[in-house]
Amino acid sequence: MKLSIIAAVAKNGIIGKNGELPWHLGSDLRRFRKLTIGKTVITGRRTHESIIRRLGRPLDDRRTIVVTRQNNYESECEVAHSLEEAIQRARNDDEVFVIGGAELYKEALIVGDRLYLTEVDTTSPGDTFFPWENKVLWRETAREEYSSDENNEYATRFLTFERKVLALSSYINMENARQEDQRIVMEHIKETGICPFCPENRVSGEVLDPVWTGKHWVFVPNRWPYEFTRVHLMGIAERHVRFIHELTDDEWLEVRMFIDWAIKQYNIESGALGIRFGNPVTNGATVDHLHIHLVVADPDVTRPGYERVRFAMGPKPPQK
Ligand SMILES: [Zn+2]
Ligand SMILES: [Zn+2]
Repeated sequence: MKLSIIAAVAKNGIIGKNGELPWHLGSDLRRFRKLTIGKTVITGRRTHESIIRRLGRPLDDRRTIVVTRQNNYESECEVAHSLEEAIQRARNDDEVFVIGGAELYKEALIVGDRLYLTEVDTTSPGDTFFPWENKVLWRETAREEYSSDENNEYATRFLTFERKVLALSSYINMENARQEDQRIVMEHIKETGICPFCPENRVSGEVLDPVWTGKHWVFVPNRWPYEFTRVHLMGIAERHVRFIHELTDDEWLEVRMFIDWAIKQYNIESGALGIRFGNPVTNGATVDHLHIHLVVADPDVTRPGYERVRFAMGPKPPQK
């Protein structure tokens, strides 16, 4: 059984206002109907009641399971007391839809497989938000754009996301996280179990925007530059490779092209390249995905606390 989540969300994250949808979008209602018809929908109590208010009945041609904590909730539909119970009841279906509201979405986003999201081109006032936190776990697989017209108050974008398949091994070594914010980002990555350097998993803010993009590498400013460097760039292989011998001639050639570019671009007279490959327990990396550091020391010895640049490697020494 596939657990799908379906939601319409404004640009500011709003999904509802006073228990109702804050817009009228004919195309979105049609999409909702087309996707859910003949299927089971799981709904929170308040969302269910707003549907009854709007239609005078439950959604037609669909099996509705209402999730509520109330023990004696009266409904013409099936009632479950948790999302898990609702899922259990529909376990023989091929696809089951969670249709809101916010509380149920939050739980479903943790266990769901697919997300149908209608992005509504407005910043609507409202009181209920779509609680989508771990976007990094989802991969966009389809996108359609629609402009507004007489049946659609706003332009919309129909997006489909699939949950990423999680990698089995842990790709990172926490020991090598040097700063608190890096540690927090890395903890998050460790929990989600995916490689943060693979292109589909890169999150802006964690991996900064490239200064140079090739076919086989991106070069980005290091998110946590080593102290007393003037330039600290990191080249990340587009493939998930771990060892030097995995690199092709084309990939090597591109490193050379980048270095030629960087030397001119940053006016580099001297510097060092450090390629972290292999086991991150011993190579000093936080991420188990081959990458190259281009490091240029800051020649200004008058900087407060000046020290030479250090390229840390080896396991962390035992705590004293
Ligand atoms: Zn990777
Ligand atoms: Zn590194």
